[in-house]
Formats: sequence, C-alpha cells, structure tokens
Amino acid sequence: MPTPATAVVAVDGPSGSGKSSVSRGVARALGLRYLDTGAMYRAITWAVLRDGVDTRDADAVAATARSVRLIWSTHPDESVIEVDGTDVSRAIREDAVTRSVSAVAAEPRTRAVLVELQRRAVAEARAAGQGIVVEGRDIGSVVLPDADLKVWLVADPAVRAARRASEDAAAGRIADPVEATPVVHVVAEELARRDAFDAGRAASPTTQAEDAVVVDATHLGLAEVIDTVVALVRNRTGS
Ligand code: C5P
Repeated sequence: MPTPATAVVAVDGPSGSGKSSVSRGVARALGLRYLDTGAMYRAITWAVLRDGVDTRDADAVAATARSVRLIWSTHPDESVIEVDGTDVSRAIREDAVTRSVSAVAAEPRTRAVLVELQRRAVAEARAAGQGIVVEGRDIGSVVLPDADLKVWLVADPAVRAARRASEDAAAGRIADPVEATPVVHVVAEELARRDAFDAGRAASPTTQAEDAVVVDATHLGLAEVIDTVVALVRNRTGS
C-alpha cells in the first residue's frame, strides 16, 4: 500500500487547465518528485527545429527523437530541461515550439522514446523510495495505467485561455499585458487547435482514463485545486 509520500499520481487534461501548477503544488505538498512530460515533447520539438527538420518528415522527426540526449529535473521547484547539453527551459515555451509540438508528438516513434524515459523516471523515483506526480495527456491511459491516482483536470476554455495569456504575459512572451483582451482570443484559438489535434491523433490521443477522477478547476483557485488533489491522494493511500 503506498503512502502519500510514495504515491504515483497521473495528471492529464487539455492545454491550459493548470496541470503544471497543480502538479508542482501537489508534489511540493507531499514531498514527491515531478515530471512534466509536455516539456519533454517540447524539447524534442526544439531539437527538430534546431536541426531544420520538416515536422511532416516522420522518419527525420523519429531520428531526431532517438538521437537527442535529454536531461531534466524532477524537483518541483526547478524547471530545467537540457537538450544535448543546452538549457532549453525557456526556449521550449516560445511560439515556434508551441506551434510545432503537436505534429512532433503525433509521431509514434517519438512517443516510444519518451514513454520509455517517463517510465524510467518513475522507476527511479520508486527505487529511491519516493513518489512522483507525472503530468501530460496520456499518463493515466497509456504511460502509467497502474498509477495510484489518476486526475483528469479540466476548466472552461475561456478560463484556460485567460490563464495561459496571463502566464505568457508574466513570462514576457506577450509584449503588453494591458492589451491582453485580443491576445486571449488568439490564445483560445491556439489552445483549441492544439487540443483538437492532440485528441484526434492516432497514437495515444489525449484521453481521460476510465478510472480517472475529474477535477474541474473552472471556479477554483490554484490552492483549492492543489488541496483537492492532495486530499484525493491521501484518501487513495488510506491516510
Ligand atoms: O503540456 P504542454 O502544453 O507543454 O504539452 C505540449 C504538447 O506536447 C501537447 O500539446 C501535446 O501535443 C504533447 N504532449 C503529448 N503527450 C503528453 C504530454 C504532452 O502528446 N503526455
């Protein structure tokens, strides 16, 4: 029987539902490791763009995915990820990567490489006697079907777009946060386009696992969502 400190938690859901902030917060609260699998797909995409590979060239995308060396932190307070020795933590959030990541993530050979690394990260945490929160799109359904808790985190599209636009503004990716209103529409379209693509692809589409617990963050603050998930973990691990 796992304890809250050794629990393996899968957090899936559409873009902008708050998966990263919630997953980090839960990991901090319970002393768990944290794995951002979206950052891994983004890092491969960064390498694809670095190498001038056409994202429609499936063989070349797969070859890049197989050849890069990824290093990442599983500490919830760090968001470092390196590709072949280069820190790409900021670069992977840029528009060019965001626009191309779904195409790269749809390639089954890319997924095979990353799913193996993701399962290895979980095995390493377990071997060290620690649990882990893993966030993504297919974690509960494909990567970790035996997770102790699976959360399907949702929020209304308008709330997700507003949240993502203010994150972008805070990170300096949007020039002027005061002019955020038109930006929110652009962000909403971009999120909808990416979610439709991710949910419609053949290889491991974004999927709510049958045994996932739905958490709707539309009317909840971040702290409330974290508390909700922490309570679910405690409940699931009998403590
Ligand atoms: O979570 P984030 O927005 O950073 O994810 C970027 C992209 O990576 C998603 O739009 C999706 O195409 C892909 N992804 C995936 N499977 C995961 C995590 C992310 O296909 N487990």
